[in-house]
Amino acid sequence: MSKRTVIIGAGHAAGQLVTSLRQKGYDGSIVLLGDEQYLPYQRPPLSKKFLAGELPAERLLVKPPGFYDDQDIDVRLGTRVTAIDRFAKTVETDTGETVEYTTLVFATGAKVNRLSCPGSALPGIHYLRNIEDVDRIRADSQGGARVIIIGAGYIGLEVAAILREAGSDVVVLETADRVMSRVVSPPVSAFFERIHREHGVDLRLSTGLQSFEGEQRFEAALTTSGDRVEGDIAIVGIGISPNTELAEAAGIDVDDGIVVDSHCRTSDPDVFAIGDCTRHPNAIYQRSLRLESVQNALEQAKTAAANITGVDDEYNEVPWFWSDQYSLKLQIAGLSEGFDDYVLRGNPDDNSFSCAYLRDGKLIAIDSINAPKDFMLSKPLIKDACQIDPAVLADTSLTMRDMRQD
Ligand SMILES: Cc1cc2nc3c(=O)[nH]c(=O)nc-3n(C[C@H](O)[C@H](O)[C@H](O)COP(=O)(O)OP(=O)(O)OC[C@H]3O[C@@H](n4cnc5c(N)ncnc54)[C@H](O)[C@@H]3O)c2cc1C
Repeated sequence: MSKRTVIIGAGHAAGQLVTSLRQKGYDGSIVLLGDEQYLPYQRPPLSKKFLAGELPAERLLVKPPGFYDDQDIDVRLGTRVTAIDRFAKTVETDTGETVEYTTLVFATGAKVNRLSCPGSALPGIHYLRNIEDVDRIRADSQGGARVIIIGAGYIGLEVAAILREAGSDVVVLETADRVMSRVVSPPVSAFFERIHREHGVDLRLSTGLQSFEGEQRFEAALTTSGDRVEGDIAIVGIGISPNTELAEAAGIDVDDGIVVDSHCRTSDPDVFAIGDCTRHPNAIYQRSLRLESVQNALEQAKTAAANITGVDDEYNEVPWFWSDQYSLKLQIAGLSEGFDDYVLRGNPDDNSFSCAYLRDGKLIAIDSINAPKDFMLSKPLIKDACQIDPAVLADTSLTMRDMRQD
């Protein structure tokens, strides 16, 4: 058959992949199979401006609707891929179609982790991954509803900020002893804890959830400290897991993510994978990573597109991420995991500072809060694993550009 790239999943990575394929001159046919009802859209605003009602759904789209016809992309929405036959090179869908491919791409993203405690199936308990989830949360939280949020990661804290600003009473339960503990250092956690409390969020750390209670719908959360916290709705943000089942069933290597090489190729050379569903090697950190970020989705899509069109291209970027909470923009470059020292640049009391992370004296990551210059200028230093004297790093009369010592 003539060249045909079939993409499973029509999310952010897939939207970039089809764009890059055509930009790079791919002249085969492209079939995009997505189980949601929407064209590829951006998820970050779902816990930010879209949840606040400040952004219409059309503005979430990665590309305007006309783009797909113009670029001759066969988009089939509401279509779930249910099986893959790698020998026949076909995929089966829940709409009864069999689609042949010459190249297959997994862009299946991730699903939210769900609670299974008593009461977890009650109406009024929400998760947040797609547009419909936001529609349900907004409908349920009108008029200053009392909101209980489970988990003080990015999603929980962003939602807390938006709903608090909308006039809701917000309680956040977090089992760890500090917020965002998986990704930031204690001073950065302490800074965000102060900010949320100043905005009136009832933040309860070292406090897990035992069960949800309610007759017909959610009424209260019972905590591990024995408190009964009443609320009108609960929103759970306890992490995500990659959608790998289909790949695994097709015999493709999976290890907490679909395993790809630096070209975004899976263990089958005709099959690629991109975005949240992957586990990929990173030469900067010399280990494999599973990332949940727009940057990763977009860059892997570009790398896969290059390789599908026959151009040898490797993905090796400094990961970056952002989170908006109230008027604060947290920007993270690099991965701080494994740091043995950190240095503050600036004073958290000014609501603008950075926390730079070192390992063996080398810069490995930075968290910048309303300090975009530190964030931008750090990326090349992290990429080159620059050795930086902590005293120099703390000196805010110097920019990050001045830090290079070699
Ligand atoms: C609320 C929220 C806020 C976020 N905020 C930020 C942020 O501030 N900064 C940041 O960098 N990142 C953020 N992210 C993460 C970012 O949105 C993801 O990293 C990005 O969407 C990953 O893109 P993807 O294409 O890999 O996956 P997705 O966008 O999840 O797309 C995957 C698609 O595949 C579909 N699918 C799965 N299986 C099948 C199948 N068998 N058949 C057909 N379709 C299938 C899924 O339904 C989905 O539509 C946020 C995510 C959420 C949910």
